[in-house]
Amino acid sequence: MDFIYSVANFLILAAILWIFGRKAIGRIFSSRRERIGRQLDEAERIENSTVTPPEIPAAFSDALPAGAEEEIRAVRAAAGEKVLAAEKKTEQTERAMRREMLADTRERFLDTLVGAARKMAGEEPYASALRAKEETFADAIIARMELTPGDIAYLKRHDVLYVTLTSAHPLPQSIVDRIGKRAEEMVGAVGGRISYWVREDPELVGGFRFRVGDTVYDFTVADRLYQLRRDLGRRMLRGDEDVRALLDDLLAGIGQMDCDGISEFQLGRVLSVSDGVCWMDGLADIMYGEVVEFESGERGMVLDIEVDRIGCVVYGRYEKIESGTPVRRVGRIASVPVGEEFLGRVVDPLGRPLDGGGRIFTEQRRPIEHPAPAIPDRAAVTRPMHTGIKAIDALVPIGRGQRELIIGDRQTGKTSIAVDAIINQKGTGTVCIYVAIGQKDSTVMEIRDKLEKYGAMEYTTIVCAPASASASFQYIAPFAGAAMGEYFMERGGDVLIVYDDLSKHAVAYRELSLLLGRPSGREAYPGDVFYLHARLLERAAQLSPENGGGSMTALPIIETLAGDISAYIPTNVISITDGQIFLDSDLFREGQKPAVNVGLSVSRVGSAAQTRLMKQLSARLRMDLAQYRELAGFTQFGSDVDALTRKVLDAGSRMMAALRQNRYEPLEDWRQALLIFAVSEGLADDADPDDMDAFGRRLAQALEETRPEIVRLLRSGSKLSEEDRAALREAIRQLGRTEAA
Ligand code: ATP
Ligand code: MG
Repeated sequence: MDFIYSVANFLILAAILWIFGRKAIGRIFSSRRERIGRQLDEAERIENSTVTPPEIPAAFSDALPAGAEEEIRAVRAAAGEKVLAAEKKTEQTERAMRREMLADTRERFLDTLVGAARKMAGEEPYASALRAKEETFADAIIARMELTPGDIAYLKRHDVLYVTLTSAHPLPQSIVDRIGKRAEEMVGAVGGRISYWVREDPELVGGFRFRVGDTVYDFTVADRLYQLRRDLGRRMLRGDEDVRALLDDLLAGIGQMDCDGISEFQLGRVLSVSDGVCWMDGLADIMYGEVVEFESGERGMVLDIEVDRIGCVVYGRYEKIESGTPVRRVGRIASVPVGEEFLGRVVDPLGRPLDGGGRIFTEQRRPIEHPAPAIPDRAAVTRPMHTGIKAIDALVPIGRGQRELIIGDRQTGKTSIAVDAIINQKGTGTVCIYVAIGQKDSTVMEIRDKLEKYGAMEYTTIVCAPASASASFQYIAPFAGAAMGEYFMERGGDVLIVYDDLSKHAVAYRELSLLLGRPSGREAYPGDVFYLHARLLERAAQLSPENGGGSMTALPIIETLAGDISAYIPTNVISITDGQIFLDSDLFREGQKPAVNVGLSVSRVGSAAQTRLMKQLSARLRMDLAQYRELAGFTQFGSDVDALTRKVLDAGSRMMAALRQNRYEPLEDWRQALLIFAVSEGLADDADPDDMDAFGRRLAQALEETRPEIVRLLRSGSKLSEEDRAALREAIRQLGRTEAA
C-alpha cells in the first residue's frame, strides 16, 4: 500500500514539474545548445586554417598500407567522442581539446600519406632511376668524406674507427670497394685502421648511407622522406586537392634527389632517459647548448658533455624516447623565434602559441643564450622607467636599462607591482615581456586578462612555463624571454622584462643539475646557479647611442621564506641586481599596500634617472620614513609621547597613507610629485588618511582648472625654485579654503 502511495505521489510531483517546468527546462537546454554551438563555431574560426583532415582520395587509397584506412576511421571516431566529452567542459578546455584532436588526427594522416609515398618510391619508375644515380652519389660521398676532430680523438683512444655502408639493395662491388678504400686511406693518414661493415636494410627503400665514426652521409629515400615529413607541418590540408598536391610533392622530392640533397649529420644513440634528462653517446663533435633531435621528432638541448656520454634536457614529451634509438645533431644552438608578431601573445619557451590564437610566423630566430652587451657598448642609465607606483617612483626609482629586484614573501604583492609597471608603459612605446616560471596556469590567465583589460596586451608578450611544465622548459623560459627582448633592444627600442620568479627558476635548475649528476653545493643548488642568474640579468642594459640606444630593464622577482633575504638565492640575486624593492609581509598585513619596506629597499642607479622635481621632493622622504618606522616601533605600546615625537609620528603615518595605492591605478609622475609635496609640507592634514588618492585627484583636478601654469611647471619635471614652492603652497592652501567654504 505504502509503495503504491509513494508511486502515486511521485507521479503527481512529476506531472506538476512537467506542466510548470517544461518551458524553463526547454529554455535552459536550448540556450545551452546554442552556447555550445557558438563556442564550436568560435573554435572553428580560430582554427581558420581548418586543419580538418580530408578524405583520402580514391586514386591513392590503394597505395595506402593495409589497415591504414581503418586506422584513420578509428582516429576520427575517437576524435568524435573527444568532442562530445569536450562539450561538457568549459569553453577553454573545449578549444584546447579540439585543437589537440585536430593536431593528432593531422599527424596520423600525414604519417599515412608518407607511408603511401614510401611504398610508391620503392617501385618503378623511382627504383630504377635511383639505382642509375648510385655511381654519382658514391663519387660525391668520396669527395666529401673527412674526419672530424671527434673521430680523430676516438682513433687516438681506440686505434680503430667503425665504418658502415648500408644500402637498400645489394650494391655493385666496385662501389663498395671504392668507398672502403678511400675511408682506409683517410684513417690511415692519421695512423689508425678501419673496421668496415657492409649491410643491407630494406627500410631505407632506396639509395645508401655511409657512416664514418659518428658522421653519416645519407642518400636514402628514408632520409629524404624524413626531411619532407618534417617540412609538411607548415602545409595546409583542406581537401582532396591539397592532399593530391602533397603526395605529388613528396614523390617529386624523391625523384629530384641529387648530390646537393645528400644530408650529412652526426648520429648518436640514446643510452637512457628519465625525468626529462637524456643521456646519449656518439655525437663526438657536439657543442654545449646545441639542439639534438630524437627519432620521435622531439628535440632537446645539450647541457652536459662528458668523456663518453652526453647529457641533454628534452623539450616536451620525453616518454616517447626509447633507449637505443638514434639521435641526430640538428646543427644549431638552441634558439627561439623572435619578432613583432609575438606582441599580444602567450607563448611557451620555444615560441609556440599557448593562447589558441593560431600559429606565429616569423622570419627571425635568436639563440636563447647570448653574450650580454660589453661595457663599451653600454651607456649610463639616465632615462626613467616610471612604474606609476608612488612608493617606487619616489623612493626606489628605476631607470631604463636597470635591473631591479622585487623581493618578498609569498602573497606580498610582488607580481602586482610588475603588472602595474607593465600597464604604466602604455603609450611610451616600451615593449613588455612577462616571463612566468613555475606559476599556476590560472594565475597567468588572470594576468593576461588584466593586461588585456587595461590595453597593455598589445605591447606585451607572455612567455609561460607553468608549474606543470617540465624543469627544462622552466629553465630555458627566462633565457627565451631575454632573447625576445634583445630583438627589440637591438633595434633601438625600450623593453621591460619581468622574470616571475627566479626562485622557481633556481629550483628547476637544481632539479636538472641533480638529474645530470652534478655535485650540489649550498642548499643543494649547483655551484653555478650564481653564474646562471648573472648571465641572464647581465643581458639587461642601456645601449650606447652608437648601438642604437635601446634598453632592456629587468625586474626579476624572488620569493623569500619568512622574510629571510640572506638565504642563498636571494643574496645571489641581490648582489647581481642594481637594487631591490623589499616587500614586507607585516606592512602588507597592516594594509600598507604596496608593502615597500623603505629601510631595506634601494635603487643604486635609478636616482640618476629621476626627474629633478621628484629628486628634490623625495630627497628627505626616505630618511623621514625610516625614522618614522623606527619611532613607530618604539612607541607602539607607550601612549604618552612628547609633542615633537607625536608630530613626527603623525607626519610619518600621513606620508605612509599617501604612499598607499590600489592595483591597476598607475599615477603620472607630476601627480605623484604634487601629492608628495602637499603631504610633506603638511598641507594635507585635513585629508582622510584612508583615501589619500581621492585627495590627490581633487588637488590635481582643481590645480589643472585654476592654475594651469603650475601644472605645466610640474609636468616639465624641473626643479622648483623657492618662489615656485611658495606659489604651489599658496595654491594648495587656497584650494583647501575654497573646499572648506
Ligand atoms: P605569490 O607569492 O603568490 O606570487 P605575490 O607576491 O606575487 O604572490 P600578488 O599575487 O601580486 O602577490 O598579490 C597578492 C594579493 O595581494 C593579491 O590578492 C592582490 O590582489 C593583493 N594586492 C597586491 N597589491 C595590492 C595593492 N596595491 N592593493 C590591494 N591589493 C593588493
Ligand atoms: Mg606572484
